[in-house]
Amino acid sequence: MSTSGTSGRAITIRRVPREMRVTRRSYLRSLLYNGGRPWHRAATMASTWLAKKKGVIMSVISKTRYIPPTTPIDEQIRILNEYRAQYLIGQTGGLYLLARELLRRGKPFPLRIVAPTGATLMPEMRQTMRDAFGVDPRDLYGAVELGTISWQCRRGNYHLDADRMIVEIVDEQGNPVPTGQTGQVVCTGLFNYTMPLIRYKLLDVASLLPAPCGCKVQFPLMGTVQGRINDFLPTARGDLVSPHYLYHIFDSAGGSPVKEWRIIQHAPNHLTYEYVPEDNFNPKALEIGMNVIRERFGPGTRVDAVRVENVPMTPNGKRTCIVSMMKPGDHSGMRPWDAEAAAGMSQELAAALISR
Ligand SMILES: [Zn+2]
Repeated sequence: MSTSGTSGRAITIRRVPREMRVTRRSYLRSLLYNGGRPWHRAATMASTWLAKKKGVIMSVISKTRYIPPTTPIDEQIRILNEYRAQYLIGQTGGLYLLARELLRRGKPFPLRIVAPTGATLMPEMRQTMRDAFGVDPRDLYGAVELGTISWQCRRGNYHLDADRMIVEIVDEQGNPVPTGQTGQVVCTGLFNYTMPLIRYKLLDVASLLPAPCGCKVQFPLMGTVQGRINDFLPTARGDLVSPHYLYHIFDSAGGSPVKEWRIIQHAPNHLTYEYVPEDNFNPKALEIGMNVIRERFGPGTRVDAVRVENVPMTPNGKRTCIVSMMKPGDHSGMRPWDAEAAAGMSQELAAALISR
């Protein structure tokens, strides 16, 4: 299998079927804890293996309908209705866009469980999904190469899959930080026999949390992932802009004028904002948002707003709102392109998170 490469370089991981099964079951466990049952009808945009020969048989047995992430939104909605799905699992960005479209049409689609995965679930994404699907999303934090790392229980806390891996939060020297303190997520898989992953850096920023949750799950807790290190964009001034910031650029404009968007950074002072306009598009609101970006990235920053028909997906079928086109060395010391550079980031990241 290959990782998606959204956190840096894509790598190929060797796995035997037994290891793959353990990984897949890690997803099922979180669904079971959240009230999922085998007889419920599930729709998934995440499990690409279901499209393969063996997966097709499994999808019939497990009442799971696979929707390729490249499926147009109209078609996704048609399938959900036709299949009368009760759960929905999929890439966070894709589920968010689907939720937005359902709300735009004024036709929410109530579900038992919504489990977004693969990207940081921003608060506004959570709210949109809650409104569209009538249920609080159960976020799954994981990585292709490790499976589920932590997942939300009914109380909304993230429990670590502590029987499958050791999760550490480390500082820039790679030393574990105290519980409650923010640092980089590092995982050691306990079921990766073919190609062990030991203290594997995920380029995510999070913290471990104290105390029992109070629910029936006994696994330890971690805080929400505050962002992927690569989603923090550097400015010409030398600081970092949190991805959260970019979700709020229209707050002072009285509503978002765009249906879909992504921001592409070419250089610290050059960005492109691609957008699909809302039906009642307000160019003034767009301009307010663009000025918010210019201000945050510093004087002289060029921000081109480009209207597009749709926001393209990444080659691996993910929808991402933040894209960096900068090459290693473009802004040396700022971009965490490899794990070593990333380890040195946490001071700046902590500053960026606090300044948010
Ligand atoms: Zn819990």
